Amino acid sequence: MIISMVPKATKEQIEHVCEKIKSFGYTAHPIYGEERVVIGAIGDGKDKDHVISVMESVPGVESVIPILQPFKLVGRELKKDKTIIKIDGFTIGGDQFVVMAGPCSVEYREQILTTAERVKAAGAKVLRGGAYKPRTSPYDFQGLEEEGLKLLAEAREKTGLKIITEIITPENIELVNDYTDIFQVGARNMQNFALLKKLGKVKKPVMLKRGMMSTLKEFLMSAEYIVSQGNSQVVLCERGIRTFETYTRNTLDISAVPALQQLSHLPVIVDPSHGTGKRSLIAPVSKAAVAVGADGLIVEVHPNPEEAYSDGQQSLLPDEFEELMKGVKKYLAVEGKSL
Ligand code: PEP
Ligand code: MN
Repeated sequence: MIISMVPKATKEQIEHVCEKIKSFGYTAHPIYGEERVVIGAIGDGKDKDHVISVMESVPGVESVIPILQPFKLVGRELKKDKTIIKIDGFTIGGDQFVVMAGPCSVEYREQILTTAERVKAAGAKVLRGGAYKPRTSPYDFQGLEEEGLKLLAEAREKTGLKIITEIITPENIELVNDYTDIFQVGARNMQNFALLKKLGKVKKPVMLKRGMMSTLKEFLMSAEYIVSQGNSQVVLCERGIRTFETYTRNTLDISAVPALQQLSHLPVIVDPSHGTGKRSLIAPVSKAAVAVGADGLIVEVHPNPEEAYSDGQQSLLPDEFEELMKGVKKYLAVEGKSL
C-alpha cells in the first residue's frame, strides 16, 4: 500500500509510520519527494483492509491506498517521478541520453583499448565488454574472465569511460564488483533470482536486460527482485524478444520502451545490436529508440568485426559508430535531450 504523508510531516511521524508498518509484517520503503514523503508498505503482511484503516488515523498520514500492480516498488503507482541514476559525471534517466558502447566480448588488450578510445571520442559515456560470456554453445568463447575485467579497468583508466560488464553467477559478484561501475544482467539470466537478489545488496547500478521470452510484467517483476533487496539503481534494457521472424536475430519491441516508462519509473535503454542482429539495422533502430523516449543505447562496436570472437555480424566499426552518433545527436535535439 502507499502511505502518503502530509507535506509537513515530521521526521518522528515518518519514523513512527515505518515502525507501525513493520509491526504489521510489512517492510517500509520511504521515498522522499520534493513536496512530501510517500512510504511504500510492501510484503505479505496482515489483513490489508484493517491495516489501511489503522494507518489512515496515524498522525502525519494524509492518505493510504493499495498498490494494484504486482510490481510494487518499480511501478509508477508508488513513485511518480522518474528515477535518475547518478554516476560520477553523468546521469541515466534524466535529460541526458547515455550511450554505452564496446565489443560483445573483451578479447585482447589492443582490441579493448582501441575501441574504448574511439567510442569515447564519438560521445559514449560507458564502455561495454563481456568478460564472462553466457554462450549458447559450450564450445564457443566463454570470455577472458578476470583478465578481461583487468583490461576493462585499464581502458577506464586511459579514457575516463565508466565500465559495464555482465555478471552471470552470484558467486562472482564480489570479484566483478572490484572492477565494474555498472553490472549487466543478460537476457538469459533475467530470471536468475539468486543472482537478482544478491545484486539487490550491491551499491552499484544494475542494467537488467529483458529475457528473450519475457513479458513486460515478468521483466518488471525481475527488476522488483533487485529493488526489493535495497538496490533502487536499476536500468531496464529492451534487447528484442523471440518471435516467428527469422530475418532479424530478435524482434526489437520498440513499444516496450514507452510502455515500460508508463508502468515504471526506472530508466529504459535500447540494445539495437542484439535487438536486430544486423549491422545495417542499428542506425535506423537507434533513431527510433530516441524518438520513443529511450534513456540511452547499448551498442556493440569492434575494431575488426570479421574476426570478432562473438557477435561480429552485429558489431559496428568505430567509424560506423561515429556516424551513428552523429545521426542520433540530430534526433536528440528534437527531443530536447543531449549526450
Ligand atoms: C551481450 O550484451 O553481449 C549479451 C549477451 O546480450 P543479451 O543478454 O541481451 O543476449
Ligand atoms: Mn553480444
